[in-house]
Amino acid sequence: MTASMRGEQDRYEAGTPVSRRLQQDAESYLPGGSSRGTAYFEPYPFFAERGEGHYLYDVDGNRYLDFMLNATSLIIGHVHPDVTRALQEQAARGVAFSVPTSSQVRLAEMLCDRLPSVDLVRFTSSGTEATMNAVRAARAYTGRHKVAKFEGGYHGSHESASISVKPSAEKLDPDGPTAIPEFAGMPPGVLESVVVLPYNDLEGCERIIRLHGDELACVIMEAVVSNFGYVAARTEFLQGLRDLTSELGILLVFDEVQSFRVSSGGAQERFGVVPDMTALGKIIGGGMPVGAFGGRADIMALFDQSRGGDFIPHAGTFNANPMTMVSGEATLKHLTPEVYQRLDRLGTMLRAKLQAVFDELGVPAHVTGVASLFGIHFTSEEVADYRASLRGDKAMTEALFTGLLNEGVLLQQACGGALSVLTTESHVDTLVDAVRRVVGRVRG
Ligand code: PLP
Repeated sequence: MTASMRGEQDRYEAGTPVSRRLQQDAESYLPGGSSRGTAYFEPYPFFAERGEGHYLYDVDGNRYLDFMLNATSLIIGHVHPDVTRALQEQAARGVAFSVPTSSQVRLAEMLCDRLPSVDLVRFTSSGTEATMNAVRAARAYTGRHKVAKFEGGYHGSHESASISVKPSAEKLDPDGPTAIPEFAGMPPGVLESVVVLPYNDLEGCERIIRLHGDELACVIMEAVVSNFGYVAARTEFLQGLRDLTSELGILLVFDEVQSFRVSSGGAQERFGVVPDMTALGKIIGGGMPVGAFGGRADIMALFDQSRGGDFIPHAGTFNANPMTMVSGEATLKHLTPEVYQRLDRLGTMLRAKLQAVFDELGVPAHVTGVASLFGIHFTSEEVADYRASLRGDKAMTEALFTGLLNEGVLLQQACGGALSVLTTESHVDTLVDAVRRVVGRVRG
């Protein structure tokens, strides 16, 4: 660790003694003191006390301008009065029942109306279950067992998604993507059934997809990849994949768990490429645990238990629970076309201002992102795939993340983030000025 990085960590530790003590307590009961590996960072995460609008307050009384927004999910900010009211009213009526409520019909209608690919939708309690069920539907629909995913793509934590998500540079085959398990003991059947593709490389994808063509049930992908810093697909790449999958009878599944926030109809509307199935999560629950998967009526009919005959069983004690449904509904009501235009404008401004700061300071960096999503990569090359993102300067990323905490700004650990409807030009400038100061300090 460099001296300046050490300085940032020392400053963070000095300002967060209560969090440090809580982390020590937590380690007695939870592995790593956590229930969510991604919530941990060095030297220890701060513990949240409360949120308010665009801000998060920790147990030591520090305030952070929050661009993490619980992994992009809080698009209208913390404790929005409409969401709080909807939750309080629902809590007074009951938080979960074993029979449906009208709230799930209203939220389902909003999603079907907004998403070009979604005729019918099913709710789950997480994005993980959403992608898992989308893949299951693709297998049942096509009668094929293989799934293609992209190197560096994250689609939740189920088995077929846990391949080549964050392989280290040493594990990568220089000749191209291979199926690398995320943990030991991965059943060989899972490894054999997942095919890994290179992002933004249509020729490379075509070669691999044609090789496995008649065994492939689906290609699952994000049109803006969150896991390696909000890297967008080139439009011709997406269209090429759409054409190829249609030709070969392979279903195209868009994971829009994060990218649904890039327009009212998600990335599929923004890029003008309509998949067969879509997985959702995050913002559609307004901050409550959620997921959903939907798609063409003939595919989703596989889940219809009311027709008689065979169907794909899909259960979940908390699926479509009314707390999540009313919170999601209250949130989506705020997401009008004007709001998306504003988010786009602010996102474009933020990316341009950040890039200008790095250019001015002579720091090799690329700022990626679409609409309200942004990613910072400390590399001089354009980042279009996972391997390019890996070549970025990790020490600089870590230093910026910790340095920004000391400036009262919270980003994702990889230095990506998201805007909310509460973001103003002044918030953008706060982040940009803080980045300038941290980079100045870190470079001495
Ligand atoms: N897909 C993407 C693109 C995600 O970013 C995530 C979560 O971060 C998931 C799927 C899984 O969602 P969840 O954490 O709700 O299971």
